[in-house]
Amino acid sequence: MQFSERMAHIKPSATLTINAKALELKSQGVDVTSLAIGEPNFPTPAHVCDAAKQAIDEGFTRYTAVPGIPPLREAIAGYFKRAYGVDVAPDCTIASNGGKQSLYNLFAALLNDGDEVLIPSPYWVSYPDMVYLNGGVPVAVKAPASQGFKVTVEQLEAALTPKAKILVFNSPSNPTGACYSVSERDAIVKWALDRGLFIIADEIYDQLVYEPNKPSSIIVWWKQYPDRIAVVNGLAKSFAMTGWRVGYTVTHPDLVKKLSQITGQATGNICSVSQKAALAALTGPMDCVREMREAFSRRRNMALSIIDTWKFAVCPHPDGAFYLFIDVHKCFGGKVHNSLELSRYLLERLHIATTPGVAFGNDNCIRLSYAVSDDALKKALTEMGEVLAELADEA
Ligand code: GLU
Repeated sequence: MQFSERMAHIKPSATLTINAKALELKSQGVDVTSLAIGEPNFPTPAHVCDAAKQAIDEGFTRYTAVPGIPPLREAIAGYFKRAYGVDVAPDCTIASNGGKQSLYNLFAALLNDGDEVLIPSPYWVSYPDMVYLNGGVPVAVKAPASQGFKVTVEQLEAALTPKAKILVFNSPSNPTGACYSVSERDAIVKWALDRGLFIIADEIYDQLVYEPNKPSSIIVWWKQYPDRIAVVNGLAKSFAMTGWRVGYTVTHPDLVKKLSQITGQATGNICSVSQKAALAALTGPMDCVREMREAFSRRRNMALSIIDTWKFAVCPHPDGAFYLFIDVHKCFGGKVHNSLELSRYLLERLHIATTPGVAFGNDNCIRLSYAVSDDALKKALTEMGEVLAELADEA
């Protein structure tokens, strides 16, 4: 078959592929511990599920307005007031089929063929492919473990060409959990605005930051530069709502209209029932988010207390999200030679699923998600520590 040239760059999503492999093994009766997928292991809060049940019972099952029902757009706007004290008008918001669709549609609305998108690396797997699918060219700007995987203005400047149009800024980061401080963020935002770039801020983990860090958002900059910044967020991670597929974008109303046109032509509105669930989440109690954050924080500390004893690994301590991005290149050279081989080896030998760093732009590392139970995490890390030490000895 003749596929479009754009497909030449497109890879299957590594996170979803590994999750599928882990699920397949589980269905065959294998006891797999999956540290591969970024999916909270908590149930969606009961009041959110109840709102969805009620929506079904009331027959709220038809098409809705493409950018989302008005109360949901008001609730999205209200979130920014509640969390960050910033007034957002509902027509500056649009609901999407997960944060992924928000990001994809922004690239579709903003990129011309050949436009470059600066992407600090390590980056989340799907950014480069989304850029390619929309005719753009991703430019990875590498941030090493020694910098806590955070990119600097100088590194961004060195990667800048006249073709650059967008900067993707993701804090807390997937895959590293790194959080930019307010001053680090502000330096990067000022630089990007000064250079005429549009900033897409992926803030899907904004509520999942650990003491002494506090949630922060580029929305404070957006207020001043509404046509130069888009803030993307969603309910999947904070409210344990991965399967419901609800994300959203806040940006200038003219761009919201374009995003809505794309959505209207490509998919139509997001699931009506999910919209009611999202409304309940965004307007309801936040205790559930706090409880999940506390559990993630506890697991993070426990995981780090184990990993910090690994002499063959470097793991900058993450401040947010629920990932550990560990440099394990000292284990390469014997039985395994790169992150993909290591992930395969761990799955086959220990039945532990991890995601190879190569999918995130750094082949020295593997990503572990600690969105699993405390016991499963402890057991998996203990087993991994022994096997990785063996690999490092043989390397
Ligand atoms: N964002 C999550 C992850 O990185 C979910 C999977 C995905 O959509 O990539 O694991």
